[in-house]
Amino acid sequence: MSATSHPSGLTPTQIEDLQQRALAVAQQAYAPYSGFRVGAALLLEDDTIVTGCNVENASYRLTTCAEQSAIASAVGMYGPHIRIRAISIANLSNAASQPCGACRQSIHEFSTPDTRIFFPAEDGTVAEATIADLLPAAFLLNK
Ligand SMILES: [Zn+2]
Repeated sequence: MSATSHPSGLTPTQIEDLQQRALAVAQQAYAPYSGFRVGAALLLEDDTIVTGCNVENASYRLTTCAEQSAIASAVGMYGPHIRIRAISIANLSNAASQPCGACRQSIHEFSTPDTRIFFPAEDGTVAEATIADLLPAAFLLNK
């Protein structure tokens, strides 16, 4: 009997694990200015999990989001050919938080159209969308 019941092919255990990893890494966030501590956990195509948290700066615009932090770590560890199967995003404020526009573009760079993104919704549940849902018209460099 297969434990797979999710349209993404992910098992409930994989999704739960990803959410727990995102929540755990949010504890590491450097967010002295906003107090909004965020974690992101990437599930790569080989089932490796890589995490990242937000890193703020006194010069606010230099802040790195958790999603981009995780992606930079994943590329640093596994190289430029990584592909993201799923991402879970969590925060310690019990607040809704979809990936920002910049992160959607960053995620798109290493995704397939059906890469799944799990994030805290307005109603306190975990929402889910594909990257194609969240960024239907990504920027592509055509030179
Ligand atoms: Zn972002």
